[in-house]
Amino acid sequence: MVYKLKGILAALFPGRCRLCSSRTPTGPGLCLPCRNEAPWLAHVCARCSLPLPASCDDSLCGRCQKQAPAFDATTALFHYRPPVDYLIKRLKFAGELAIGPLLSGLLAQRLADRDSALPELLIPVPLHRSRLQQRGFNQSTELARVVGQQLEIRSTHGLCLRNRKTEPQSLLTHNARRLNLRNAFTVTAEKLPAHVAIIDDVMTTGHTANELARALKGAGASKVEVWVIARAG
Ligand SMILES: [Zn+2]
Ligand SMILES: [Zn+2]
Repeated sequence: MVYKLKGILAALFPGRCRLCSSRTPTGPGLCLPCRNEAPWLAHVCARCSLPLPASCDDSLCGRCQKQAPAFDATTALFHYRPPVDYLIKRLKFAGELAIGPLLSGLLAQRLADRDSALPELLIPVPLHRSRLQQRGFNQSTELARVVGQQLEIRSTHGLCLRNRKTEPQSLLTHNARRLNLRNAFTVTAEKLPAHVAIIDDVMTTGHTANELARALKGAGASKVEVWVIARAG
């Protein structure tokens, strides 16, 4: 509730922190204290970014050790916790599109610092036609656009299609979630670059990313990364 009020203030006063509405010297974004207090991920699975206990020496989580997902690596910035969950919900459900550049700017900043090669193409997770119509925009497309601009990587939409309207994953049991997404995506491109990245707002079970990565590899990509703002779990 406090966040909600502060969010409204932040929207009314651009140039102020999106969370606490204090003045930010660098324009709209997060002030330094809010940035420092954000739930940044630290020790995570190298493959799926699942948070691991600090005491765990493994680089992979139990699930990735048992069965590797179709994607090769994941970059995630935050735990899906307050206040990040709140920002993402405002972007998605309240249509506050200004939050997109803030979050994707932070993601691009993180990725710009890395040593390994960047992908050649960004692929936002597609929404089904009917959901896109209902919401009016795809938050993943918004994120990919900004990340692509900042890192100078082509981002595409319409290259992957969501075949059917799947049930919201949150309403299903673990097994049903997996089946719900089976063959959910079709890749329409004739030729994909070898190295691509999927972009989404949140990774929860990883089933969506896994299913899309499977489709992309089936269409010729050999390395598929996943880039998300937040990781639940
Ligand atoms: Zn702040
Ligand atoms: Zn993992």
